[in-house]
Amino acid sequence: MSSTLSGGAGVTSSARLRLRHGPGSPRGWAVWELPAATRCLFVAVTALAASWATGAAWLTPLRTHDLIVFAVLLGACASSVEASRRVPEPAGVNANDMLGAWWVPVAVLLPPMYALLAPIPLLMLRQWRVRRISSYKRVYSAAAIGLSHAGGSVLFHALPGRWTDWGLLVQHPAPLTLALVAVAVLAKVLNAGLVGLAVKTADPEARWADVFVVDHGQLEITEVCAGVLVALITGLSPVLVLIALPPVLLLQRGMLYAQLRAAARTDAKTELLNAVTWEREAATALAEVRRRGQPAAVLLVDIDHFKQVNDTHGHLVGDDVLRGVADVLRAQVRDDKDLICRFGGEEFAVFLPGVDADEAPRAAERLRRGVGALVTPVDGVLVQVTVSVGVVVADPANAAVSVPEMLAGADLGLYQAKAQGRDQVRLLARPDRRASHT
Ligand code: GH3
Ligand code: MG
Ligand code: MG
Repeated sequence: MSSTLSGGAGVTSSARLRLRHGPGSPRGWAVWELPAATRCLFVAVTALAASWATGAAWLTPLRTHDLIVFAVLLGACASSVEASRRVPEPAGVNANDMLGAWWVPVAVLLPPMYALLAPIPLLMLRQWRVRRISSYKRVYSAAAIGLSHAGGSVLFHALPGRWTDWGLLVQHPAPLTLALVAVAVLAKVLNAGLVGLAVKTADPEARWADVFVVDHGQLEITEVCAGVLVALITGLSPVLVLIALPPVLLLQRGMLYAQLRAAARTDAKTELLNAVTWEREAATALAEVRRRGQPAAVLLVDIDHFKQVNDTHGHLVGDDVLRGVADVLRAQVRDDKDLICRFGGEEFAVFLPGVDADEAPRAAERLRRGVGALVTPVDGVLVQVTVSVGVVVADPANAAVSVPEMLAGADLGLYQAKAQGRDQVRLLARPDRRASHT
């Protein structure tokens, strides 16, 4: 899970609301579209952060050294935000931008007030310079980051002196390092909890595991380590931030590219593989099953009369239905073996290694029935769709058949299923090279 809220659930419905009321009108604000529980959470978390920041500002004496450290760390963090602009972030990708590397030193080197204030200018900068998302998401993210790092700051400043003394770093590095790791991990867990709670209240159907489990484990560990290292050297002297900045920017860039490469494999709307990646991976899988002397099947699944769904309910509802169908298909295939993609528009392709001509139509039938049972509620109306499925099986004897030829065969099966009334499965007896020319 990323440390900030962006994209994801609720985007389509909020877009619908803005269309209705206009983007500038308060009634068109996406925040009103949120369920009551999410709005309560939003108000509670933001109010807590704001009142803590106000109280802390009242009670915290302003020291020149603190202000210099704060300015240096804000400047470094602003450079990180600027650097992330150069890496294009495709829609739907909630990339970890490694800004956490700068929150940890703020939390441990300064009183909690600074941890509460730091995210405000930086997330405004991110909103302005990198990517615009709903303002309430930025506000909530700033409050969540501020509260979680202020919590870490309170913990750090409550520890006995020998755990927090940079003067002992060279002779006894373990206590301070452990204290910094504890702060960084605590802040990460608190932040993930607050973001996860917002996602869960906005989408009660979401599974707890998907909401709270950190899905970029390696990234999160790297971010924690970077935060600890930057805190260690900044604590020795704020000037050393200049030494930390270039490697952190490089790390950030490498991490963003790695996330973008992963995102380039998938279709943003359905989160299934995209067609190019699917074809490449299916070709590798086909070579593998052939080597083992096993059969393989390709299914082409097309939603019936999907244009009517768009025409009747609008494209945004069409998108919801498309995502629902993708989820049903994904749930029906074997995670570790089968390959499923959004092939284009309202079509999906599935590669089933090791599946023969007896099993393939049964698998296709399961998918067809699964989609038929899907109900998408839209403004009090229940939308249901059916799918037609073309099936083709390559047996081990037919060594010449390639993935594009199997696709052409499945397409022929699909054409027959459509011609014979839709909502059915058609198996093409045998794919061969001619199929790609019909
Ligand atoms: P058939 O049963 O013959 O397949 O009919 P159909 O209406 O499903 O097929 P057709 O090819 O006539 O129309 C496909 C429709 O799918 C038209 C297009 O607007 C819609 N579509 C394609 N991609 C998307 C998408 O990403 N979102 C939405 N909402 N609609 C899409
Ligand atoms: Mg189609
Ligand atoms: Mg269709």
